[in-house]
Amino acid sequence: MTDLDKADLPRLSPPTHEHGWIVESSHRTLDGLILYVRCTDCGTRRIDLADSATPPRALSREA
Ligand SMILES: [Zn+2]
Repeated sequence: MTDLDKADLPRLSPPTHEHGWIVESSHRTLDGLILYVRCTDCGTRRIDLADSATPPRALSREA
């Protein structure tokens, strides 16, 4: 073990930033409107559900 090894430890949490979501596609279901969104900066994809009663919310984890 050297000090160099300590300095080279991987970061446990990935860098985060304010995602800039764009809607790639969408389709309507009984529950509401399913939105397939992607961050234009980092390419992260997410699935949102938008219905008339509540603002869009994430259905899937960011991946
Ligand atoms: Zn992003």
